[in-house]
Amino acid sequence: MIKYSFIFYKYYIHRKYSLFLQNLYSKKFVMDYPHFSPETQMLGYGYKPELSEGAVKCPVFQTSTFVFRSAEEGKAFFEMAYGRPGHEGEKMGLIYSRINNPDMEILEERLKLWDEGEASAAFSSGMSAIATTLLTFLSPGDVLLYSNPVYGGTYKFILHILTHFGIKVIGFRAGQNMKEVEKVLTESGHAKKLKMIFVETPANPNNDLIDIEMCSAIAGKYSSKDVKVLVSVDNTYMGPLWQHPLKHGADIVLYSATKYIGGHSDVIAGAAVANNELIGKIKKTRTFFGTMIDPHSSWLLMRSLETLKLRMEAAAANAVKIAAYLVKHPKVEKVYYLGYTAENNPEQQSIFEKQYLSNGAMLSFDIIGGEKEAFTFLNNLKHIKLAVSLGGTESLAEHPATMTHVDIPDEEKESYHISPKMIRLSIGVENDKDLIWDIEQALSCVQLHFAKSNAELISQ
Ligand code: PLP
Repeated sequence: MIKYSFIFYKYYIHRKYSLFLQNLYSKKFVMDYPHFSPETQMLGYGYKPELSEGAVKCPVFQTSTFVFRSAEEGKAFFEMAYGRPGHEGEKMGLIYSRINNPDMEILEERLKLWDEGEASAAFSSGMSAIATTLLTFLSPGDVLLYSNPVYGGTYKFILHILTHFGIKVIGFRAGQNMKEVEKVLTESGHAKKLKMIFVETPANPNNDLIDIEMCSAIAGKYSSKDVKVLVSVDNTYMGPLWQHPLKHGADIVLYSATKYIGGHSDVIAGAAVANNELIGKIKKTRTFFGTMIDPHSSWLLMRSLETLKLRMEAAAANAVKIAAYLVKHPKVEKVYYLGYTAENNPEQQSIFEKQYLSNGAMLSFDIIGGEKEAFTFLNNLKHIKLAVSLGGTESLAEHPATMTHVDIPDEEKESYHISPKMIRLSIGVENDKDLIWDIEQALSCVQLHFAKSNAELISQ
């Protein structure tokens, strides 16, 4: 008996002490230093170890539902979930994992930090983030002004699903200036019904840039006392590290978190970041669409966010070297890379300088020839994987014209430079020399039928 009492006492002291440490930890490192950089906050922000037996890392709350302490508590939580503002000091509790779950909530606390948004919503995929957000704010009769080219899935959703619900969609081309974009809008005859501008910048896969401040100015011009035209930016290519759309006047930032945020090609997820009011509305739609992220994917993203900055910076450092190699290669006609996009184009240069913090790690190039040469290159890569997607630790290569952007009509594809000779590369974190070795040997397998002219070779 004495023996057991002693063991219990030891356990009690140990538990008290660890709770004390946990308290100290949570007070000291979790909430009290809002000036910390996002990369520091990713290690603990929003998580209280004392609520999870002292676990240093947030556990996976793999549960579909949560126990209420009383019927009254369940009633109050449901009232708040359905819109009743909480009384002073009253907090909404956990109900059901389609509405809320600790992993999803802590992930959302962290995701918002990179873009300095007030709130964020996490989704089961980038497409569910985009679809849920657009369907939250667009109603039949409204107009969506969108940029081209956008990711193929987004293009299909805008042109084939939104239009099915009576939403009018008007496209403009990345690289057009304010006058040109407004002309497209006014000539459509539907400018007064404008409700949202949706852009993807840099444009995927040609890296043309869109001025977010320009979009915000157009939105302001067509907003009224009753209707605010919203600007949404798909920041998958550059975010959340190298472009912060909210700072340039965007209202909502959207992500395929499958890409840099997840970063290991092992999870499909999405996110939206905005102010409390907009995210509140988006979450309401998400609850009823059921497009939320699951606990395990939330956990994977939290793990990934700890190394986000390191991964993205390593990939960008590799991309500079690969772009420099490709641009000099005699079998390469053109390189689409942010470091070169702005060359000889003052408008693109000024957008780049105010909006971007890096050249990123996504680049495309035109091989001399066409589909045959592009496919020979892709089929001969030894290390770089022939796969769609981007932003993972490993480098990937794909053929936009027949893969990610296949649904875009051919004449439109050509106007965005998405031709059979274009190859898109997502640069990873490998040793840059190994990547260049692989690209070099794959290019050496390509038989040139269309050599660059002597003059072109000499000018390089
Ligand atoms: N936005 C961009 C720029 C993308 O590249 C993708 C996917 O490739 C998506 C959105 C859609 O994301 P997900 O595949 O996570 O649904």
